[in-house]
Amino acid sequence: TGIVIAIDGPSGSGKSSTAKGVAKARELRYLDTGAMYRALTWWMLHHGVDVSDPAAVAAEVSRPVITMGTDPGDPTVKVDGHDVTADIRGERVTTNVSAVSAVPEARELLVRTQREVIEAARAESAGIVVEGRDITTVVAPEAPVKLFITASAEARAQRRSKEVRTGDVAATQADLARRDRLDSNRAHSPLTRTEDALELDTTGLTLDEVIALVVKLADE
Ligand code: C5P
Repeated sequence: TGIVIAIDGPSGSGKSSTAKGVAKARELRYLDTGAMYRALTWWMLHHGVDVSDPAAVAAEVSRPVITMGTDPGDPTVKVDGHDVTADIRGERVTTNVSAVSAVPEARELLVRTQREVIEAARAESAGIVVEGRDITTVVAPEAPVKLFITASAEARAQRRSKEVRTGDVAATQADLARRDRLDSNRAHSPLTRTEDALELDTTGLTLDEVIALVVKLADE
């Protein structure tokens, strides 16, 4: 069966670009679990659910049908058949996703789906690269390759503001800091590095250098 490469880290650390690059280089599948929390948040907002109310979110979690494309060249995300790949990167979803992802029922449901995607990929392909906040700790703690990717707050804000094409690096840095605080301090599966995950600080490295490093680790 195929390999599992588990990658966690804060927003803007470069984990998505790294995970996609490694998956392409090694012809593996790719799963962006953050996109699943974003898709769920998109559905809640679209249906007028008060996302600041955990009970309201919990009551609706099983309604949306979230479908994840696992091709690293085209990781399309669908909710109830609609392509939301672009919409889930918008400001409204980004502002509200940490509230939805703190709801235990939301996590239980998505973690179950994530494990199904991983098992299917292991059975049908060379394996999968999975990235998020709790992949090395909760979703796939037995993965043979586990990484915790970090970068300085400044580097992360620079990269993220390039991605979303806003010149406002300071505002981006503030938003990343706010989400990290929420993601690291929630009661259920907070973002933490376990001792057996290799920490990789990408601050001074190019994307190609990081990808090459991870590919080498996976080949060992
Ligand atoms: O990775 P990305 O920034 O797109 O993730 C969006 C949000 O989804 C994070 O800020 C976090 O609240 C949540 N998330 C999570 N667990 C994961 C992946 C993402 O709670 N495994």
